[in-house]
Amino acid sequence: MKIFLIPEKVSALIFDMDNTLYTHDGYIRYQIESLIKKLAEKQGADFDETKGAIEARRRKHAEENKGAAISLGNIFKSFGVSMEETIRWREELFRPELFLRRDGKLREALLRLAARFSLGLYTNNPVLVARKTLACLGAEDCFPVIVGLDTCLVSKPSGLSLRKTAEMLGADTGLCVSVGDRYDIDLALPLEMGMGGILADNVSDVYRLPSVFEDAGFRL
Ligand SMILES: [Mg+2]
Repeated sequence: MKIFLIPEKVSALIFDMDNTLYTHDGYIRYQIESLIKKLAEKQGADFDETKGAIEARRRKHAEENKGAAISLGNIFKSFGVSMEETIRWREELFRPELFLRRDGKLREALLRLAARFSLGLYTNNPVLVARKTLACLGAEDCFPVIVGLDTCLVSKPSGLSLRKTAEMLGADTGLCVSVGDRYDIDLALPLEMGMGGILADNVSDVYRLPSVFEDAGFRL
């Protein structure tokens, strides 16, 4: 875990979902590979060729942006896949129930945090996939606000989606803390917008968040 900033006053926490609320390398790999396979089919190319082209696009973006990562959604956009199509693919392909199980420790941590803060989920997956994922984890009632790829039709990082999430949570952006596993995707822009930011290396870091906020002076 790396705490970049916890503001003096906090009213809402905005969580990333994949690789933050669960840690499952196989499911993450499945999501990426099934999308690449779909793109390969659309382009009439083979899987390895498409994967190579995506990697090249990633490297180019990093070279032109001081090493910063780019989301798969934005890479697909640069290959001519519309956001609507990406959303449909993700809804069709992703089956969290095949990979994820109920996580009592996650639920306990989220409920403790929810007693003090409003909790929002901001994900690059569609809202439908987010709901299914939360149901698998046993956390479907922990997030009154979910903003997905289909909410504003833009991929992370997006100021529009972040402002929308904060607005739905009824919180000024300066009173929000973003929690996610990728600095470039989940934290850089929120920090620039005046939000707090916490990098979670895996779901165990989320279990520890109630203590982190208590140590920072918040009574849960
Ligand atoms: Mg993530």
